[in-house]
Amino acid sequence: MFAEMAGIYIHIPFCRKACHYCNFHFSTSFKTKEEMIGAMVVEIAMQAAYLDGQEIETIYFGGGTPSSLPIEDIKLLLDAIRDVHQIADDAEITLEANPDDIHAESVTQWKEAGINRLSIGIQAFQDDLLAAWNRSHNAEQATTAIAIAQQAGIDNITADLIYGGPGLSDEDWVSNMQRLIDAGIPHISSYALTVESGTALHHQIEKGKSMIPDDDQANRQYAILQDMLTANGILQYEISNFALPGFESRHNGSYWSGAHYLGIGPSAHSYNGVSRQWNVSNNVRYIQSIGSGVIPSEMEILTEVQRFNELVMTGLRTSKGIDMKGC
Ligand code: SF4
Repeated sequence: MFAEMAGIYIHIPFCRKACHYCNFHFSTSFKTKEEMIGAMVVEIAMQAAYLDGQEIETIYFGGGTPSSLPIEDIKLLLDAIRDVHQIADDAEITLEANPDDIHAESVTQWKEAGINRLSIGIQAFQDDLLAAWNRSHNAEQATTAIAIAQQAGIDNITADLIYGGPGLSDEDWVSNMQRLIDAGIPHISSYALTVESGTALHHQIEKGKSMIPDDDQANRQYAILQDMLTANGILQYEISNFALPGFESRHNGSYWSGAHYLGIGPSAHSYNGVSRQWNVSNNVRYIQSIGSGVIPSEMEILTEVQRFNELVMTGLRTSKGIDMKGC
């Protein structure tokens, strides 16, 4: 029976450069890349029963930087999923891509492999900010990347933008959003620059080499974000997410609605309605453990009260809210 819908998240734990604000799990060394992809293919088979035969409605390649992988690796992972899961004909299959990885050839290959949605990590169109954050791309590459993706026929594009960072004036902020609006980007995710412990940005601030992000600036720019996108028909459907009607992220939507999902790869989280589990955030330990036939994860069984609270907490992030009749 394939009565319900579910999603799969694939965590690609490699990045070419470490962005100074980032605390996701990734390594800038690709030395273990081949073993990692092999281990993830094995984990997909080991976890075949986790979603209990539910049809897969969304697949999301996140990270890390999935666009840094050669197409063969993306295909290996998708084939491994297709081997053990039924994937809906209209499944949303997203790949997170850095602008410097977006070329006519790569986009065509992704499309042929089944990717039908790109999440482009633009963040800003100011070269000095991109350099200060240690991003691997510049503003020109960001502009070109959007055009290339659209020319290749990928219309379902989401772009990330950061606000509230020192050096981002309100004029810059408005112009960053305007560039995405003018380019016809149908979905925008936007986050305030936050200082996470252990990041390069945190160290820089401690040593007085970077300024602390200003809360007033972040609040002001968030209000500008809401007003400007709404005025352009890109509607807010979650705290950080805005879309033209019909372009809301189905994958993220499943997290907020309590749907089941399977996470593959180091640091990936899974949820099956009963328990939540998360894989070790360490590439070498992940590969070794999968190699010895053990999924390196910790698990928490959720009580009914915890499940209810989570549904309320995540539901209240969205404009849909929660259905009190179902409570
Ligand atoms: S590319 Fe993304 S995951 Fe990698 S370091 Fe930068 S923000 Fe983090």
